[in-house]
Amino acid sequence: MHASRASQRRGYRSELRLTSAPGPLAFAPMALDTLEKLRAAVRDVPDFPKKGIVFKDITPVLSDPVLFHASIDLFLDRCRGRKIDKIVGIDARGFLFGSAVAYELGVGFVPIRKRGKLPFQTEIASYSLEYGEAEMEMHIDAIDAGEQVVLVDDLLATGGTSAAAAVLIRKAGGQLLEAQFLIELEFLHGRKQLEPTPVISFLKY
Ligand code: AMP
Repeated sequence: MHASRASQRRGYRSELRLTSAPGPLAFAPMALDTLEKLRAAVRDVPDFPKKGIVFKDITPVLSDPVLFHASIDLFLDRCRGRKIDKIVGIDARGFLFGSAVAYELGVGFVPIRKRGKLPFQTEIASYSLEYGEAEMEMHIDAIDAGEQVVLVDDLLATGGTSAAAAVLIRKAGGQLLEAQFLIELEFLHGRKQLEPTPVISFLKY
């Protein structure tokens, strides 16, 4: 029973492997099928949190054990074999993906939170969202100078949030290797805000 479960799991994981070093065309054909399943699971919620916004709801991905695993493996495949000291996740859905990735890589996890949530001394960066204005904070001792960092979030929209996170990471002296997103709304050109940081996303709309 255990052996067959373990081999099923191994088989499943192997279909998600990248064929080569991380790059935009590095997905094996089997992984494309998994990407389609992930894409199908992301639920569009019109007019949330305000009229005109189509909210990409990733909770159906989280609640499906196979898809949740697959989504974490996408991030992991980008990270394995690189020298990474910290994964930084953005409040709040970036915590769900980022902390699992950090746990599996055996590296530290750093939360960047909306203003007023972190208890210790912070650095603050302002940004504008697809649907509003806000400020993000990071603890001043969360990243040591010279540490190599990967930024993780569920979705890249206008890029304001992750650009603010990049400012906080660099202010602390961290080297931002890459920003990784499960979903990218390409029509909003958010990756421009992050230049020259390399940006990778797995599901593009
Ligand atoms: P932005 O700063 O515009 O790139 O917005 C990215 C942040 O806002 C991410 O943390 C997302 O979780 C959230 N977000 C923005 N737009 C959407 C959307 N259409 N669907 C789901 N989340 C969104």
